[in-house]
Parts: sequence; structure tokens; C-alpha cells
Amino acid sequence: MMKYDHILIRYGELALKGRNQRTFINQLQNNIRHQLMDFPEVQVKKTQGRMFILLNGEDPEPIIEKCRRIFGIHSLSLAVKVDNELEIINETVLKTLLDHPSGTTFKVEVRRANKEFPIQSQEMNQKLGAHLLKNSTGYTVDVHDPDVIIKVEIRVEATYITSSVIEGAGGLPVKTAGKTLLMLSGGIDSPVAGYLAMKRGVEIEAVHFHSPPYTSERAKQKVIDLAKELMTFGHQVKIHIVPFTELQQAIFKEIPEAYAMTVMRRMMMRISEAICEKEGILSITIGESLGQVASQTMESMNAINEVTNYPILRPLVAMDKSEIINISKDIGTYDISIRPYEDCCTVFVPKSPKTRPRRDKVNQFEAKMDYKQLLGTAVEESKLIKVNDHKNEEDAFKDLL
Ligand code: ATP
Ligand code: MG
Repeated sequence: MMKYDHILIRYGELALKGRNQRTFINQLQNNIRHQLMDFPEVQVKKTQGRMFILLNGEDPEPIIEKCRRIFGIHSLSLAVKVDNELEIINETVLKTLLDHPSGTTFKVEVRRANKEFPIQSQEMNQKLGAHLLKNSTGYTVDVHDPDVIIKVEIRVEATYITSSVIEGAGGLPVKTAGKTLLMLSGGIDSPVAGYLAMKRGVEIEAVHFHSPPYTSERAKQKVIDLAKELMTFGHQVKIHIVPFTELQQAIFKEIPEAYAMTVMRRMMMRISEAICEKEGILSITIGESLGQVASQTMESMNAINEVTNYPILRPLVAMDKSEIINISKDIGTYDISIRPYEDCCTVFVPKSPKTRPRRDKVNQFEAKMDYKQLLGTAVEESKLIKVNDHKNEEDAFKDLL
């Protein structure tokens, strides 16, 4: 068996980022190191236009699995590092081909980044191809659609030889595009919205509106588990747990039923904005998709959005439910999201919410309600939990129950 000692990391899109490039690459390196904390032997090194993980004897499989969840990585390959000498390159390329589990056709792709190396790329391709044909049986060359592509990168410090290319998560490294406050409900949509924001390099902090005793213990665990799953794509996720019961009760007492949902959403938005202000966060992210339910019509977005001038990211706005579900299955949040439980909206949800709420009406109704103090209290009494700290998690919720 071929013993791979490196993982080659390609970061595609990053290369286009001009002046920011250094920051992006350093952040990507930090993010990889963070994800691989459990592998103390492993080292993460930069070289021009690429990154390498030195395995130092670690099993590559679990490391590849971790890397596939790191945004900013375009693709990765297991690699062997050898000296810049034709004979050893020949030998290693042959081993790589013979080690490949299946296929009858191959292609060699040489990239000579090191112009000091005496043999030009094209000539190298031919030499290596000829060596492979001579020393293997049953293989032919196919330059258009080969079963096996063997890449040979000749660099200043060494030559790296790789065969299969593993697709990465794409996107940009988390923490290169500021922070957003994700409104995380426990449903299917909002975790996917958070994932997509992270994919563009955004760091997330979450807010969850909790209405004990109407919402159960299970609701609590669900939100924590979802945040944990999202954490595997980035760093620690903090959740602001907002006690929402009193405000919801007031809304359902004082606002006409058809408008209760709209007002409730506006209150959530106002509280989220206050948290952003307090924490220096510059945007809010929600899991709305246009037309999905009554609160997600254009009129409804218009009425809800009125209360804030913070940018609201809606990564799912144009997606079908089935597309959202597919992503949630891929990223591992689906099974958590579908656990049954009552969320604060389902408990208080009116039988027939207004699908086309009007700003003037909602303002008229809200004017009669004295909500400022309730809002202030909700913000003040919200608890911050860091999801990887169990003790903290328990305490934060106990205080609210
Ligand atoms: P989800 O699957 O994300 O719950 P949904 O289809 O149930 O979405 P709504 O209930 O209309 O849609 O909620 C729209 C968005 O409002 C959610 O995606 C989420 O971002 C936010 N939201 C709803 N309820 C809460 C809550 N209890 N805490 C925090 N955010 C919430
Ligand atoms: Mg929901």
C-alpha cells in the first residue's frame, strides 16, 4: 500500500481575493489547525498558492473527514512528498497508479512550479507516461476522460504526487467576513441559513427565543444540538437565550389575533437588533424562504423588516423546501430538527394569521400596547451560553424555567 504522508489543500477562490489574500490564507490555516486540534502530531503548512497537512504518522481518513467541513477548502488530495529527482518521481508515480483501487486508463499531469527543475512539464508528462506503460499491465493513456489522474507538482522544496481529488466544502474561511446574529429556532430552515452564511466566511452567534413553560426541555436540547452541529463548520457558537413568555402573553392579550404573528416577529427583530448593538454584530440572519408560510410573504417581510435597519441575510429566500431539506441532511442538522417539540411559535400561533399584513395597521395596534419595558427586560434577562460547555448550558436554561 502507498503510504501517504501529506494532504494537499487547494483553496481556489481565495487566490482571487487580491489584497486580502494574506488575511484569508492565515485565517484558513488557523481554522484548519482549530479543527485538527485532536491530532497533536499533525502540522499545517503554507506554501505558495497551496497548503499542506503533514500527517506525521496520523491516519488520514478522519483528518480528511474534518477537512471536508472547512470552508475555504476547494479540494484536497492525499499526497506523497519526494525529492526533485526523476528516478524517485518515476517510482512513486508508478506506485500511486498501482495502488489505485480501479481503472484501466490514466493521465499524468505535471505542474512545474519550480523553473529550476531541468525537465519541462510536457517532456516530464511523456517520460512519466512511458515509465508507467512500460511497468504496468492492462493500462492505456486517455487524456480526455481517464479513470486515474496522477498529479505531479514540482515545487522548490520538493515534488508532491497525488491521485484522487476529493471535493472540499468550497466557500470562504469562517471569520473573514464579519459576524452575524443567527435567529435559530429549532426548525429545519434556520440551521441551514446559518450554514450558508458561514459558507461565505461569516462567523455566527445565535439568538433563540424561549417561552417556558410552553416550550419544553426538549426544545432546549435541540437548539444546543443544532448549534453543536454548526460548530463543526467553524468555531464555538454562542447562543443568546431570550425569555420570551411574558412578551408573547402580552401580544396575544392585546393584539388582534390576525396580527399577533406579525407583532411577535417584530418583537423578535427588535430584540435581535438590541443584542447586535450590545455585541457589535453587524447583521441578522434568518431562515425565511419566500412564500413558504404565512409569515414569509412579501407583505409580511415588509411589515417585519420595518422595525430594523440592520441588514437581514436571508440565504434561503429563493430555495424550495426540498432543496433546504437536502442541505440539512447533508450537514447533519435534519435529524435534530425533526425531533418533535413545541416551539414558541407553534404554541402561540393564531389559527389564521394575516398573510398580507399592513405596516399602518400593525403600527396602529402596537401603539396601544406598552411593550418597551417588556422588550428591555427580555434583553436584560437573556442568558449567554457557549455550546461546548455543558455546565453552562444546564445553568442557563435552569434559570429560565
Ligand atoms: P425554521 O425551520 O427555521 O423554524 P420556519 O419555516 O418554521 O423556519 P418561521 O417559523 O416562520 O419559519 O420562522 C422564520 C424564521 O424566524 C426562522 O427561520 C428563524 O430564523 C426565526 N425564528 C422563528 N422562531 C424562532 C425562535 N424561537 N428563536 C429564534 N428564531 C426564530
Ligand atoms: Mg420554525
